[in-house]
Amino acid sequence: MNVPTGSTRLAAVIGSPVRHSLSPALMNAAFGAAGLDWVYVALEVAAEKLPDALVGVRILDIAGLSVTMPHKESAAACVDQLSDDAALLGAVNCISNANGILTGHNTDGEGFVRSLRSGHEFDPAGRRCVILGAGGAARSIILALARHGAEEIVVVNRTLVRAEHAAAFAAERGRVVRLEGAGSDLRDADLIVNATSIGMGEPSDADVPFDPMLLHEGQIVVDIVYRPLETPLLRFARQGGARTANGVGMLAHQAAIQFEIWTGTKAPIDLMLSAVADQLG
Ligand code: NAP
Repeated sequence: MNVPTGSTRLAAVIGSPVRHSLSPALMNAAFGAAGLDWVYVALEVAAEKLPDALVGVRILDIAGLSVTMPHKESAAACVDQLSDDAALLGAVNCISNANGILTGHNTDGEGFVRSLRSGHEFDPAGRRCVILGAGGAARSIILALARHGAEEIVVVNRTLVRAEHAAAFAAERGRVVRLEGAGSDLRDADLIVNATSIGMGEPSDADVPFDPMLLHEGQIVVDIVYRPLETPLLRFARQGGARTANGVGMLAHQAAIQFEIWTGTKAPIDLMLSAVADQLG
């Protein structure tokens, strides 16, 4: 990490809890590799303290913020302006500060698509996609897949009303299916994404969001969970002949986009990918 000087720019992740965050290792490695005099820290901010914290960001001229739980939605209401994606999603995972004007961005969906394109040579244009989950991550992925031309985006979620809300981000290309009736969509899909938290932590073989026997060669299966690096879903998918990707790519690429928003400099993505892998490995 750079030794801070009087002119060092400061960036941070705000959240609660935030101590476990991989972002400081990732971002400081990237600033160092790019030769930028920037430092990145993790700041614990309780939910009710967000407006005060953002006043502090303006006064202290903190140049960039990553935003994590529980602030992603409330931050969208506290910044001065929003990018198109952040406005549509009503959620912010990145804030840039230009002379005290705070702009909220959402880089998750674009980071997801970039990770597939650059890491797996998969372009969503014209592809059939199934997304498991309808939370914040799923919604940003659905919006990005639709923008990048996916032919069809089928949303499967435990809570139906949330599935309908999420599928609306894909407009006429979005469709909701109940898990019990999703077999043919899963079998026919080019891309299947687990954007639920099933498989996180120390999962057993039963912790899969659908019957993995439906998976086969020719498909790509992405689990955006990255702890563990290989979830039971990814293991079954690999054994069934499908290509697989874990959540590391999305994590590094959404951070790379934040880096580029703040600094105007191309992010050293290969280094960021290996910094995340080092932390998780
Ligand atoms: P969220 O808003 O809380 O949404 C959680 C989703 O998981 C909802 O669709 C929820 O369904 C579903 N779910 C949770 N437990 C379930 C269960 N037992 N059975 C069926 N469905 C269940 O969370 P999020 O922010 O979208 O994050 C989701 C996952 O993505 C987390 O594991 C998170 O760590 C990961 N993530 C990864 C990245 C990355 O860069 N790789 C970025 C963001 C998030 P209901 O709607 O029915 O509650």
